[in-house]
Amino acid sequence: MHTHIIPEHLPEWTKKFGYGTFIHLEHHKTGFAHMMQGEKFFREIASNCWDPEVRIAEYAKFNTKVQVVCTIPVLFSYWAKPHDGAGVARFLNDHIIDLVQKYPKNYIGLGTLPMQDIELAIAELERCRKEGMRGIQIGSNINGKNLSETGFFPLWEACEKLNMCVLVHPWEMMGQDDIKKYWLPWLVGMPAETTRAICSLIFGGVMERFPKVRFNFAHAGGSFIPTLGRIEHGFNCRPDLVAIDNAISPRSYLKHFWVDSATHDPDLLQYILRYQGTKRVSLGTDYPFPLGDLEIGRFIEKMNLNPEEIEDIFCNSALEWLDMKKEDFLF
Ligand SMILES: [Zn+2]
Repeated sequence: MHTHIIPEHLPEWTKKFGYGTFIHLEHHKTGFAHMMQGEKFFREIASNCWDPEVRIAEYAKFNTKVQVVCTIPVLFSYWAKPHDGAGVARFLNDHIIDLVQKYPKNYIGLGTLPMQDIELAIAELERCRKEGMRGIQIGSNINGKNLSETGFFPLWEACEKLNMCVLVHPWEMMGQDDIKKYWLPWLVGMPAETTRAICSLIFGGVMERFPKVRFNFAHAGGSFIPTLGRIEHGFNCRPDLVAIDNAISPRSYLKHFWVDSATHDPDLLQYILRYQGTKRVSLGTDYPFPLGDLEIGRFIEKMNLNPEEIEDIFCNSALEWLDMKKEDFLF
């Protein structure tokens, strides 16, 4: 339920809009492309980032058939002018909508929204729903704003109304400019960002006020579950700082939301399963990127879980999050 995809060809938005550092692709050799951020090289990607057939074949090697796809967070472009951001989102969503129509048994799509403008975001959410999408992916903060901000409440309300699930993915990691060396924004910043998002949604009362929004958090919820003891203790010992917008303990929200399985560590996944249960942990790979679980779910198969538990993690948990049925994907 957590894989990334990009159209093979992107408009040169930086030139078109005349500002910013929008992503475009330069196909410098067969099967590979440079992701360019404005004029700056961002990373090299391979055809498994855009070619649906290559992706299906790579997944088949690990007996996996269905991928929930969403954009790559660097394409969120929340910093862009609202109407430009909405244009980028529409382009990316149309690509995924088309993909899902062509391969309905292999792909499920999550939309991206111009979160810098709540009205445009809701309009795009409604369009995504109408086009058959089951959910969206958003960043862990929006231009530095936490997801607890009341300005986002209308979006949660719309997600409840339209039955759209939400994947929260870390991006624009806090303090990243201070920790550029050793890939620390990815290794340290991302788990912290996801924890920031979960704590914001709990402490800000979003999960309490909008209980029907089905949130799923990337990378097993970052460091939220491993550090929940500290978070809960803070809630108890300094309610004057922590419990100001929601008087309910953070621990009581376990099993309310979903997390993916991308831990690279069976012991940690076992620990997370103890708190979340198999119905709230879904197979997430972060494919096709190197930090992902690219031997899809193999470490989970080697854990001492029974077949029902594995089936929950590999399939039932994601289906419940998406509100879809297994029968829709059987040939
Ligand atoms: Zn990811």
